[in-house]
This record gives sequence, C-alpha cells and structure tokens, in this order.
Amino acid sequence: MNLIEPALQWQPEFQAIRRDLHAHPELKFKEVRTAEVVARNLQQWGYTVDCGLAGTGVVASLTVGTSKRSIGLRADMDALPLQEINHFEHRSVHDGRMHACGHDGHTAMLLAAARVMMHRKQINGTVHFIFQPAEEGGGGARRMIEEGLFKRFPCDAVFGLHNWPGTAAGTFGVTPGPMMASSNEFEIHVHGKGAHAALPHLGVDPVMIAVAIAQNLQTIVSRNCKPIDAAVLSITKIHAGSATNIIAQEARMAGTVRTFSINVLDMVEARMREIIEHTAIALGGSATLSFERNYPPTVNNPEMASFCADVMEEVVGAENVDRRIEPTMGAEDFSYMLLEKPGSYAFIGNGAGGHREMGHGAGPCTLHNASYDFNDEIIPIGATYWVRLAERFLSEPA
Ligand SMILES: [Zn+2]
Ligand SMILES: [Zn+2]
Repeated sequence: MNLIEPALQWQPEFQAIRRDLHAHPELKFKEVRTAEVVARNLQQWGYTVDCGLAGTGVVASLTVGTSKRSIGLRADMDALPLQEINHFEHRSVHDGRMHACGHDGHTAMLLAAARVMMHRKQINGTVHFIFQPAEEGGGGARRMIEEGLFKRFPCDAVFGLHNWPGTAAGTFGVTPGPMMASSNEFEIHVHGKGAHAALPHLGVDPVMIAVAIAQNLQTIVSRNCKPIDAAVLSITKIHAGSATNIIAQEARMAGTVRTFSINVLDMVEARMREIIEHTAIALGGSATLSFERNYPPTVNNPEMASFCADVMEEVVGAENVDRRIEPTMGAEDFSYMLLEKPGSYAFIGNGAGGHREMGHGAGPCTLHNASYDFNDEIIPIGATYWVRLAERFLSEPA
C-alpha cells in the first residue's frame, strides 16, 4: 500500500475526531455540532470556512498556483434514527440516533485529506471540500446545489466515497455508468363499493381490484422492461377491510420502484398508471396512483470512473481495485451532484468485521445495522485516495 506519510502518522488524531462524531450523531439537517467540529478543525489548519449552505453544510477551499481547474470532494455528515446496541466507549450518547452508515468516517476521511493537502500544497488549482447534511432521505446535496453550491464553488468535476462493509479494508470499487439506483415510492388508492359479503353483486370489491392490480403490475418488469435494463417494483403494503362479513369500500396499496436510469423510470411510472386505472375500470371500480420520485440514479461519468480507478490502483495496487463493481439497488443523494457535474462515486472497503475485535465489540457490521461501526484503520487509505485524486486531477493541463 502506498499511503501518504502524514495521513498515516496523524491517524490517531482523525480516529479521535471520528469517534467523537460517532458518539454525537445528529439527524438530517440538524448536524449543528457536527458542522461546528468540521469548521473548527478546518479553521485550525488554516482554512477559511463557509457555513450554512442547506442549513448545516460546510465548504472549505484550497487554492494553490495559477490554474483555473477545480475539483469538489464530498462527504456526508448525518446519522440515522436507530438505537445503537454497541457497548464500546464511543457509542452514541443519544438514544435513538446512531452513525450506522459510516458518515462519521466519511467526514473524518475528508477532514484528514483537507489537513494533509494544506500541509503538502501539491496542487495547481482549487479543491473544494464539501461537507453536506441530510444524505439519509433529506436530499441535502440537492438543497446545497439549489442554494448555489456550484455557483459559489465552481467544480470541473465532483467525487464521492462511501465505505462498504464486507469488502476488505485496503480495497476500492467503482464502475462506469450506473452505480446506485433511483429510489421512488408509490401509493395506490382503490375505490370500490361496500356491500354485505353475502351479497357481492350489490358491491364492487376493492380487494379483488387490488389483487388484480398487484398481479398486473408485475408484468411491467417482466414484459415492458428491456431484458438488459434493471428495475424493481415491490408492492410492500395492501390494506383493506374490517370484518369477515363486509366487502370493503376501498383498498390502499404502497411500495417502491428502483431503476438505474430515468428513461426506465419514466416507462415504469407511465405503465403503472395505465395498468392501475384500467384494471380498476375493468372490474367496475376506480383507482389512482400517487408516485413520488426520491433520489435519481447515481450514474458515474465513465471517464471519471476510470480516472478514479487509476488513482485507487496507485494507492492500493491493481489487485485491490474492482474497476467494474456490481451496482447496488440502494440510493444516494450524491446522484444530484452527478446530474450537475461530471464525476464519480466509489466504494472503499470497510473490512469484513475484523476491526471489531480491536475494541469495537462483537456483532454484524453492515450498513444501517444497530451494531455497525466504521473501521478507523481505513481513514489513512481514504484520505490518501482523496489527496492523490485531487493532486492528479489538478496536475493535468486545463
Ligand atoms: Zn445510509
Ligand atoms: Zn451512507
């Protein structure tokens, strides 16, 4: 492994910051203390800090030399509404709040990179360190953009990094094109006509309509989606009725749709509307669909993904980099940044859980799990990746 010396040497300091953030998790758009910790450290290392984009967002910039080239590096800062079950010293001090997605680690790695880059000053251009709130369902990235992130801090390209438990520490993964899915929620309201269950001919049974809709919707992925395009349509709720001798008046259904492209998403939503409305009419009732698009798909610029992979290879060696990692159906609000700028999102191995024996305590170590903990050993690896990425990007001719 080819790590930058100060990143390695200062690991204990960044580990302490990471554990302090872990002990004080804050939920989306409420990252007040976290933003203060980030800003205070950056100021100590000589940065001028901009606070307040999207409420609690923090941006710091480093300009060296005369080049107009610029790069944005992004970390997320928010925690999850989850009760931590770990017993180690740095466990959450707040009931029902926990850093179970490792955003404490992402913040620490980017802080480490900021400190190392200020120390080295081996760039020609500008690096913007972007600490965003509310990745977990709040769309903090979108709000930062709406409030002028890229106008005030212009970036030629922007990069994101997420820890990935289960893959070895000292490894990276990235892929050109879609890396994570769009996430969308829907609700269906079926209107029938209530009646005595012994006299069905006097009513319109919304249960039968709901069942038919559920069946017919499954033809979208199997019959309308191009076989090489991926989509998920899951109906996760069906509710109707109150007694065994009453045909209900209405039924409600809900679920999620995931896709890797907006085109496929447009098609799925349009077909859902047709199938839902016409199935209900065919059975004598009516139905409406409300469809809410949350995060768009996270789609890496192929050139930037390849650039990332080259930098990763420089840090951990080609044998430890998966240049075509399998995309996941999870979602990420870094997708909004990739809609604005070329760039790439990547995974850094958080380890298979071995770090837990070194004082982290036992238990599974998967994202959004109540016993998760970020692996502090990878802070210098992530920090070195950030530093080399920025230095290499900014050394290329404009
Ligand atoms: Zn998460
Ligand atoms: Zn996350």
